[in-house]
Amino acid sequence: MTLKKSITIAIDGPAGSGKSTIAKILANKYKMTYLDTGAMYRMVTYYFLENQINLKEKINILEILKNIHVDIVGDKFYINGKDVSEEIRTPKVTGLVSEVAAIKEVREKLVELQREISKGKKTILDGRDIGTVVFPKADLKIYLIASPEERARRRVEDYKNKGIENENFQDVLDAIIKRDFLDSTREESPLKKANDAIEIDSSKMNAQEVCDIISKYIDEIEV
Ligand code: C5P
Repeated sequence: MTLKKSITIAIDGPAGSGKSTIAKILANKYKMTYLDTGAMYRMVTYYFLENQINLKEKINILEILKNIHVDIVGDKFYINGKDVSEEIRTPKVTGLVSEVAAIKEVREKLVELQREISKGKKTILDGRDIGTVVFPKADLKIYLIASPEERARRRVEDYKNKGIENENFQDVLDAIIKRDFLDSTREESPLKKANDAIEIDSSKMNAQEVCDIISKYIDEIEV
């Protein structure tokens, strides 16, 4: 089970489909670098919220982006030196992230960074546009889906584990449906399955079952 020196695995899909859980397990199993690209969009969103940048006003996005320095060290995320790993997961950030991620300049900056971080490494990335835009020639592309209800159930569970208790199922489900809509209908790199991606429905599977299926495909990648 020796993988090529440099390989790229793309895991795309809607919110709550299990991408990050699966990607982390596989990264650990195959000794790959894991890149959570959603966290990068969340970091920029956090910065916008913290600095009260109003998307409805005319703003110079490129100037703002120049002030944002993103660092990722293991599973910790830093903006301009500040650890924001927990802050980027709050419902407030989640509520705005799809709007920020629809901005062309934001995407260009982050896609460039994603390619830079992955260069020459064995990398597994999860997101919405990895197989379609960031790495259209990825060695393996997975498109992970699950029913909106199952995804909302998982998100509520996640929030509970993080001590965020006041999020009820219906609100989370509504937010997921809204985010699916914004992410898949935006002009810039919308969420969609790449033609050559393998679709897996995780609604009735646990993480290990999904990983077992994907592992079979990874093992087929040239050694
Ligand atoms: O994966 P996660 O739910 O953390 O992603 C947060 C948001 O970031 C998504 O809803 C989407 O708007 C945006 N995103 C994106 N492209 C990616 C990853 C995430 O537009 N590659």
